[in-house]
Amino acid sequence: MRLSLPSLSVNEGMARSAVAAFCAQLNPTAVEIADIKCAVSEAVTNCIVHAYRDTVGEIAITVKLCEGRLIQIEIRDKGCGIEDVKQAREPLFTTDAEGERSGMGFTVMESFCDGVSVSSRVGRGTTVTLLKRLHK
Ligand code: ATP
Ligand code: MG
Repeated sequence: MRLSLPSLSVNEGMARSAVAAFCAQLNPTAVEIADIKCAVSEAVTNCIVHAYRDTVGEIAITVKLCEGRLIQIEIRDKGCGIEDVKQAREPLFTTDAEGERSGMGFTVMESFCDGVSVSSRVGRGTTVTLLKRLHK
């Protein structure tokens, strides 16, 4: 599945619901669906509030169903990029100056998924890949 949407906060709910609806064909449990929605929500919100902070840009989402009930979800932006990915992934790390954010987005993604990888280039953008394995 491929989805492209502008980075407006009104689109966040649609993005997570669309990914969940696509994954529903594998008959996941309600908990698994909730985990997927939560992780996608964090990644998409990061595109909206960080990658395209003062602008609106494209968020591209790709979902693949792989062997062994493994779901791969890729969330890609062409925004500002992350200077230090290792630091960004640390719990409680945030670049939000106003203190509205808690710096827990990546930690939430990690706890609800079976794998999270982040590749980013400053000025070019960020790709977050989430892996979720469904129970048999
Ligand atoms: P929270 O998610 O708890 O509201 P947060 O967004 O600051 O707070 P994380 O989601 O863990 O916390 O992200 C950590 C930091 O990584 C962010 O503060 C931001 O600097 C950077 N970051 C995350 N995603 C992106 C992105 N797509 N583009 C640019 N920077 C990002
Ligand atoms: Mg976040």
